[in-house]
Amino acid sequence: MKITGKTKVTGIFGYPVEHTLSPAMHNAAFEALGLDYCYIPFTVHPDMLSAAVGAVRALNLRGVNITVPHKEKVIPMLDTIDDEASFIGAVNTIVSSDGQLKGYNTDGRGFMESLSESGISVKGRNVLIIGAGGAARAIGYYLAQDAKALYIYGRTPGRAKRLASDLKKVAESVSSIPDISPIDGFHVIINATPLGLKEDDPLPLDAGLFCKGQIVCDLIYRNTRFLREASKSGCITLNGLGMLLWQGVLAFELWTGRKPDVTIMRKALMNAFS
Ligand code: NAP
Repeated sequence: MKITGKTKVTGIFGYPVEHTLSPAMHNAAFEALGLDYCYIPFTVHPDMLSAAVGAVRALNLRGVNITVPHKEKVIPMLDTIDDEASFIGAVNTIVSSDGQLKGYNTDGRGFMESLSESGISVKGRNVLIIGAGGAARAIGYYLAQDAKALYIYGRTPGRAKRLASDLKKVAESVSSIPDISPIDGFHVIINATPLGLKEDDPLPLDAGLFCKGQIVCDLIYRNTRFLREASKSGCITLNGLGMLLWQGVLAFELWTGRKPDVTIMRKALMNAFS
């Protein structure tokens, strides 16, 4: 990669950010299209977020991704927020144009693209999301519009209820449920909790409940024990790597106005991951 005086700089603000896979996929995609852009990870301590957002303006960066723990806190620091990010209440992509910073959230659409490329549709199906945090909210925004019915289960019932009530503004058939047994009425089950990040974490639900043919997704990037157990029961499984890829594809389009070569981005992501 050749950095010049005209190179447009993008990147990611997170804390920590050392393990991010995003630079590999974005830099590979810039290079493949011959775009004079680069993507750099920035470790931004929570106390320094406002200064870092100021630096996007001061240093004339083209834009940045925003990751944990800044996705919500960054909102008041921006000039405008698009409608979806505003509803979701979290921003994962900032675009800077003429010194104006606009926030977007590409996580939810990234998940939907990942379902779609795997040949999975939620139309006419009952969907269960386990977890009621930021990622559940982002994917829930789109799932609520497409699914026959969307159910939210969270360990903190008040948070799950609040999310369901917010999502009802998007589509009528959204509700929170107090427990997740039995699960045979759900066609699609999605883990949107961090359970599974560690191999010895408990499962988000009892593996004995899975039914053959159910679609089971985990937003965690790898094939967690949750997915392996589901697979053993004859379920179709999908991990979160596709969501990561597609949220990146959508951010790339926002910064460059170009469609990246998704095959190259995916290959770079897989190489960085393995
Ligand atoms: P978050 O905002 O902190 O929300 C986490 C949710 O999980 C909350 O509802 C929380 O419950 C619940 N939870 C946490 N620990 C739990 C436990 N031990 N048992 C049961 N429930 C638990 O996090 P997030 O940003 O939504 O992220 C959730 C997951 O999605 C993470 O694994 C993250 O890596 C993944 N993710 C993946 C992508 C991707 O591109 N693939 C993008 C974003 C996120 P309470 O409500 O009670 O706190």
